Amino acid sequence: MAIAPRTTATTKTPTTCSCGSGLRPDRCCTLDWTQPSAPQGDIPNFTLAQTAFNNGKTAEAEQFAVDLLERFPLHLGALDLLYQIRRAQSRMIAAQILLARIVRIAPNNLLATQTLALLLFGNGAFAEAEHHARNAVRLSPTDPQSHKFDGHDHDRG
Ligand SMILES: [Zn+2]
Repeated sequence: MAIAPRTTATTKTPTTCSCGSGLRPDRCCTLDWTQPSAPQGDIPNFTLAQTAFNNGKTAEAEQFAVDLLERFPLHLGALDLLYQIRRAQSRMIAAQILLARIVRIAPNNLLATQTLALLLFGNGAFAEAEHHARNAVRLSPTDPQSHKFDGHDHDRG
């Protein structure tokens, strides 16, 4: 697995992504998806991040999660943690973008797919919301929650 060495270039820009995630753009919305996926587990900082979050130390948890995602941008646990933090902060665009990334990495995650549909719906992105709502129905055809936002074909009016 080829993981690029940490850059020591002095030209490194501290700019964070415009979506508000707190990550650098190349670890966020301009991420190169052709990179190898992140190793799961075995990363001590993630436990620290979770512990901090569970103890209400949000700023600390956020720093751990951001640091982790700088190294492993596709780390599902860290993405989920940062998503929860941004959502709790009502930074909904960042939350939506982080959750969309989770769903892209784990397309069979029913809860994440349902939640993303809900978030997109709330943000007025109806076409995208419908796409994810349909995926949720496909993942769990009998789950009533999956049908909640799939009102497109149900003409009850
Ligand atoms: Zn971004």
